[in-house]
Amino acid sequence: VPTSADQLIAREDALGAHNYKPLDVVLSHARGAWVWDTAGRQYLDCLSAYSAVNQGHCHPRIIGALTEQAQQVTLTSRAFRNDRLAGFYETLTRLLGFEAVIPMNTGAEAVETAIKLARKWAYEVRGVPHDRAEIIVMDGNFHGRTTTLVSFSSEAQYKDAFGPLTPGFVRVPYGDAAAIEAAITPHTAGVLFEPIQGEAGVIVPPEGFLTELRAVCDRHGILMIADEIQTGLGRTGQWLACDHEGVRPDLVILGKALGGGVYPVSAVLSSRALMDLFRPGDHGSTFGGNPLAAAVAQASLEVLDDEGLPARALELGDYLRGRLSAMNSPHVADIRGKGLLIGVELRGPARGACERLRDLGVLCKETHVTTMRLAPPLVTSREDLDWALERIEQVLLDP
Ligand code: PLP
Repeated sequence: VPTSADQLIAREDALGAHNYKPLDVVLSHARGAWVWDTAGRQYLDCLSAYSAVNQGHCHPRIIGALTEQAQQVTLTSRAFRNDRLAGFYETLTRLLGFEAVIPMNTGAEAVETAIKLARKWAYEVRGVPHDRAEIIVMDGNFHGRTTTLVSFSSEAQYKDAFGPLTPGFVRVPYGDAAAIEAAITPHTAGVLFEPIQGEAGVIVPPEGFLTELRAVCDRHGILMIADEIQTGLGRTGQWLACDHEGVRPDLVILGKALGGGVYPVSAVLSSRALMDLFRPGDHGSTFGGNPLAAAVAQASLEVLDDEGLPARALELGDYLRGRLSAMNSPHVADIRGKGLLIGVELRGPARGACERLRDLGVLCKETHVTTMRLAPPLVTSREDLDWALERIEQVLLDP
């Protein structure tokens, strides 16, 4: 007897933690921009697993790399070397224009890695007194859920029940280079920021902010640390969102689409000199840089490059934002974003609109109550976007 979606939901909820509030659609199959539920209903994925599926679901080339590598060797640990890591490093540093890389698994882990590297740099290079390093962060930030990362969140729910919190972070308003400059002290190691704040509701900083931030960091000799886990790898129409202003951070943090939606792969990129501050024993991860991850990540990067997906995101994003604006919906207060990372700010809670869209075959999710985040895979066709737009229009123009 086939198991019904309701039964699966009940069984999951009976045993699992209830730390998410998913839309009740039980997916069992996916290809490209499309996903199917257990009843065979088809949906256009307009979330892409929070931008982890930029290359589209089950991309044949990435799945090919996965299955091929899975039959060779999957995990060596870094106690030994493996024959896939060098190729992954070369592809990543060539495409992103950095000298050195450290591989991790999840986004949060990579952010933690960047914080450790920045602190070590503060002590060994900048001469900050022991245990006094400060990192400047932004109001509305989202960098992951570890105890240190929630310590500097501005969301009470993310941190209030999880103390004692990690010290060493100073928070300032997002998008305000003057506020950042005013917060710099002789103990500052660097500035950690998202070039566009995804979880906060696709908040785009003022034009020129990244350029100003680069200048502030240079003026004071501190590190510019870009969390591009959600914005990077083509999502906003460039390889990195910082590329929109031609700005090169000192540290770039990647995750999500680095594993092509197939396998968790994250990384921190930097100069050789900075990366060399990590010495054997300073940091590590059992699974970080494993051959399966390296093979999947290399294929994921090659797909982005060979299929020209960053440029495609730019073109499709302009089209999608244009069509959304032209709807002139009375329910819409604002439309923001770059490339295919789009926030539609509603005048009320967005959950109902997301549920109605699901019923019409379009999957997206509210973030921060009133924002609908639209982030389809970068491989979505114009025809499929039009199909979704018809349904979005139906919901947004409903009285
Ligand atoms: N940083 C940013 C900007 C993110 O959007 C996310 C996830 O949404 C993270 C970090 C955390 O990544 P992970 O969930 O893989 O730990």
